[in-house]
Amino acid sequence: MLFSDDTDALIAADHDALVVADKQHTWHPFTQMRAWCDPAHEPLVLVEGEGAILRDSRGREYLDGNSSIWTNLHGHNHPKINAAIRDQLERVAHVSFLGSTNAPAARLAERLCALFPRKNLTRVFFSDNGSTAIEVALKMAVQYWQLGGRPDRNRFLAFDRAYHGDTAGASSVGGIAGFHGRFADLHFPVDRIGSLDDLASVKNPDTVAAVIIEPLVQGAAGMRLWPEGMLRELSAWCDVRGILLILDEVMTGFGRTGTMFACEQERVFPDFLCLAKGITGGYLPLAATLTTERIHERFLGEVAEQKTLYYGHSYTANPLGCAAALASLDIFEEENVLENLKPKIARMAELLRLLAEHPNVREVRQCGFIAGIEIGADQQTPYPWTELRGAQVCEAARKHGLLTRPVLDTIVLMPPYCVTDEQLTAAIHAILRGIDEVCR
Ligand SMILES: *Cc1c(COP(=O)(O)O)cnc(C)c1O
Repeated sequence: MLFSDDTDALIAADHDALVVADKQHTWHPFTQMRAWCDPAHEPLVLVEGEGAILRDSRGREYLDGNSSIWTNLHGHNHPKINAAIRDQLERVAHVSFLGSTNAPAARLAERLCALFPRKNLTRVFFSDNGSTAIEVALKMAVQYWQLGGRPDRNRFLAFDRAYHGDTAGASSVGGIAGFHGRFADLHFPVDRIGSLDDLASVKNPDTVAAVIIEPLVQGAAGMRLWPEGMLRELSAWCDVRGILLILDEVMTGFGRTGTMFACEQERVFPDFLCLAKGITGGYLPLAATLTTERIHERFLGEVAEQKTLYYGHSYTANPLGCAAALASLDIFEEENVLENLKPKIARMAELLRLLAEHPNVREVRQCGFIAGIEIGADQQTPYPWTELRGAQVCEAARKHGLLTRPVLDTIVLMPPYCVTDEQLTAAIHAILRGIDEVCR
C-alpha cells in the first residue's frame, strides 16, 4: 500500500471535530438523518484510496466493493488520471462553455463519438451528473418534436422500477415509488410499462416523444436483468412508430457490462445515449448526452426562429473533468482494460456460485462486472423490507474488509476493474460471512 503517514496524524487530531461538523451541518443523500446524527453512530470517514482499496480515518482498509457508488473504473489514485488533472490544473481549472470552448472538452467529444464505429452518435452535450444527462435528453426530445410541428408528441414511456436520477425531470421517468412517488403530481407526463408485453396496450403511441430505458440491467431496481433480445425488440418497436429511444447508460457505460457500452451487445443505437458516473473514471462530476446528427439538425436556424436549445449549467464541459475523462479513455486503450476484464467477469461468475447455494440467497444476478445478490429468509421468501437486512449484511461485511451498499435486500458487488483475484475472492467471502452473521 502506498498510503501516506502524514495524513494519519492530521486526521486523528481532526477526527472528532470533523464528525461534529458533519453531524451538525451536513445533510446526506438517501439517508435518514436522525439515525445518522445519533451519538452512537460513528460515521465512516474515508481519507485515502489506492487501486481498489479505500482507507478510513482509523487506518482500516476496505475493498471498494461498489466502486464508490458505481463511479470508479480503474481504481483510486491512478497515476495517469492524477497526472492529467494536475496538468490541466496548471493551465486553468474552469472556463465557461457558453461562448467559448476548451481543448479537453472538444477532444473528449470527438473521442466519445469515435467509440461508435457506425458514426451514428455525432453530437455531445455536456452536463454535470447522470440526472442532468437524462434531463437534457428529455428536453431535447420534446423540443425536437415541437420544432417538427408535433407539439402533441410530449409524453414519455418508461419502465417500472427504473431509476434515472433525482431532478424533477429525471425522476418523472423513474419507476421506484419509494423514491419519487410523492412528487408524482409535479412530474412530466409518463406512461409506465413493466415489460415489452405492455407495449401493445400503450394508448396513442403517436403522441409518445420518447422511450427511456436502462439497457441490459436496471441498477437501482436491484441489478435486475432484462431478458436477452429485449432491447433489440424495444428499439424495433420504436423505429416503426418514429418514437425516439433514450438509453440511460449512466451505470452501464464504460465497460461495466463487459463491452464499452451495453447497447453494443444487442446492436442497438439510440437517439440519445446518457453517460455520467464512470465517464471520468470516477474522479469528477461530468456527464454527456450523445445524440445523432438528425436530432441536432432540427435545432439549426436563424436566431429569430427560436430553435436554439436553451439549456446549460455553469460548469458544463469543465476542463478538469474532461481531462480526467480523456485519461480514462487512454487507460482503456493502453492497459487493454476490456480484454483484461473478460477473465475477471468469468472469475466473478465462478465465485458467485458459492453464494448462490446459500440457504439465505434467493437469487444471484450478474451482468458483466456487476453483481446483485438477493437475500431472503429462505431461498423463496423475502424479508420484510423494514428489517433492513441488506444493510445489516453490508455492515457485517464491512468488518471483514468489504465496503458496499445494498439496494433493499440485494447486495451489490461491482468493484473497480483493477481488482485482483485475491481481493475479489475476499469480497465474496466477506459477503458470505455477512450473510451468515445476519441471516442465521
Ligand atoms: C446513478 C444513476 C443516475 C443518476 O446519476 P447521478 O449522477 O446520481 O445524478 C441515472 N441513471 C442511472 C442508471 C444511474 O445509475
